[in-house]
Formats: sequence, structure tokens, C-alpha cells
Amino acid sequence: MLNIKITPATEKKAKPDSKHLGFGVFYTDNMLVIDHTEGIGWHDARIVPYQPLSIDPAAMVLHYAMESFEGLKAYRKPDGSVQLFRPDCNAERMINTNKRMCLPTLPVEDFVQAVKTLVKVEEDWVPSEPGTSLYIRPFVIATEPHLGVRTSKTHQFIIICSPVGAYYSTGINPVKIFVEDEYTRACPGGTGFTKCGGNYAASLISQVKAHDLGYEQTLWLDGVEHKYVEEVGSMNCFFKIDGTIYTAPCVGTVLPGVTRRSCIDLLKHWGYTVSEERLPIADVMKASEEGKLEEVFGTGTAAVISPVGELRFEDQVAYINNGEIGPVTHKLYDTLTGIQWGTLKDEMGWTVPVE
Ligand SMILES: *Cc1c(COP(=O)(O)O)cnc(C)c1O
Repeated sequence: MLNIKITPATEKKAKPDSKHLGFGVFYTDNMLVIDHTEGIGWHDARIVPYQPLSIDPAAMVLHYAMESFEGLKAYRKPDGSVQLFRPDCNAERMINTNKRMCLPTLPVEDFVQAVKTLVKVEEDWVPSEPGTSLYIRPFVIATEPHLGVRTSKTHQFIIICSPVGAYYSTGINPVKIFVEDEYTRACPGGTGFTKCGGNYAASLISQVKAHDLGYEQTLWLDGVEHKYVEEVGSMNCFFKIDGTIYTAPCVGTVLPGVTRRSCIDLLKHWGYTVSEERLPIADVMKASEEGKLEEVFGTGTAAVISPVGELRFEDQVAYINNGEIGPVTHKLYDTLTGIQWGTLKDEMGWTVPVE
């Protein structure tokens, strides 16, 4: 159990219009901070007014990207109460990330307690407009001022919260995806399975390229052969081909998404065959030519489920389901959002109340 000292902001900010929240634009009144010092461990857990950090310009995070992060949401239920979706999965994933990045790990119970305690303090920031939620961003940074490359002796674990809008303000429109065959996101032995800042810095060049070509996001192929499909931007990716549903295996180069895991569980529960074998992009394009590429969608906390309407690989373009959301994609979206916002019964035991 953490001993969290709560000294919240005495002056509260005006709440933004919950019809125009966007994503990551507004921040709540308070934040949670826990210090970590080599030889002492985690100490001084506290909730304080949201404020700029004071860190030394030589802090190692600023030079060597020694940081990790997580992303989850708090949802307002129809009865007015607030709940989280599988926060223990985020806690476990952050432990795996931090081990790989030589950052200190926070026990699962402490992570969940920290999230719950901050969300409780910020409860009136959880919006209730349909599709809106409170996005929660825990992160760890190396704060020791030191320019030699080695592990840091001091760190901070911080949580900030941002009320976010409905991802689909104009209905669920399928996205156009560019298959990246030049740049690489992750390689075996690398950091692909972690949520570390450097992965995203290195992926921007492909996002810019895709935008320039008129596509919304990048589909990454494996880093060794550029042959097998891996992920879409910051979402996991699913393909329904001739009745079977494929998604890339989480073998070190793919981020193990909480939404991915939940979709696999639901699909299996509904009787679908889900394959986590590696899937060549050539098979996807061939299936499209043969009329067997039935549905493609991305999964992640921000968008929940994002249908894909078009895939471009080299000079081939695959159009999926006439640019409309497919039935399985739709059912997953309705079921997951129903459980998350508490309009459907949570038969899977995935939700955690904030009380
Ligand atoms: C966060 C993330 C995902 C999705 O994970 P969720 O836990 O479902 O939000 C997928 N891919 C990448 C690269 C990510 O950073």
C-alpha cells in the first residue's frame, strides 16, 4: 500500500466544453508524483496541483529518452459512477517495459491504487457526454543530472489526466492505411513490445510520409524481412480472411495491447477462430484480389476499434468491405464500448470501480 499525501489545488480550473474536448488538449487540476531513489526505493507519493516539472537540464530523460508511459481511461457509467478498464493489465505492461528500459518498476497494486486515488480526486473531470472519457497517462522519467550513459539513480513516476472527446465525432469512418516498406518500427531483441517514448519519435517519419501520400496511418511490417504485418500506428491490427481472424503474435516486436487481448478473448468467446501466426502482407493482398479480405481493423485504448477501408502496399491497393465498417468490427466496437461505459453487463470481469 502506498501512503499518498493529498494536497489538491485550492483553485479549480473552469471545465472545458465536453462537446469539444479533442485528445490531450485539456488537463485536470491535479497530478500524482512518486519519487524513486536508488537504495531507498519509491517514496513521497503525493497528489499535488497540476504544474510544470522542475528538472535539471542534464536530467537523463532529456538526453537518452530514459522514460516509459502507459495509457488507460476512466469512464462515466449511466448511474454516474466511474470505472476503469483492466488497469492491472497496464500495470503489468509497465513493469515489462521498465524492466527492458532499466527503469524502476512499481508493483501492480501500487500502480492501480495510484490511478484510482488520482481519478477519485479528479472525479468531476470525468465527462459524461457520449463517447467521452478521462484519459490517464502514467509515465516514468529518469531525473538524475548526468551526461554519461548509464542507468539513473533517481526517477519519478507521474500521472496526469486529460478529459478526451469521442474519437469518432462524425461516426466511425474507415481509415486509409499506407503499408510502410522502407522504415522499420521494431526488430527482434529491440523495444517494440514496450511503451517507451523513443519508439514513437522514430515512427514519426513514416506517419509524415503516409500523410503526404494521402493516407492516415502506417501499417508496419516486421523489421527483418518487411514481409509480415505487425501494427497500425499505435494500434494492433486484425484481418478477417475467409472467416478466420488474424493478428500478429506478441513476440517482442508487437505492443501487447489491452484492447487486442480483449478482442481476442471476445472473438474466441463468440466462436471465431483467431490465429496469432505471422501473416505475410502478400497473403493479405492476395486475399483482397480473391475477394476474401472481409474486414480489417485496428485496436487501441484511444479509438477502441478503428475500421480500415483501404490498404496500399507498393503499387497495389486493397479496398475493404466497400469502405464500410464490417459486422465483426461493429460487434466488437459495440461490445467493448458497452462494457467500458457500463451500458452492457461486464460478464468478463474487466471493469474496476473507482470508489
Ligand atoms: C498503446 C499501443 C497499442 C494499443 O494498446 P492498448 O493497450 O490497446 O491501448 C498498440 N500499439 C502500440 C504501438 C501502442 O503504443
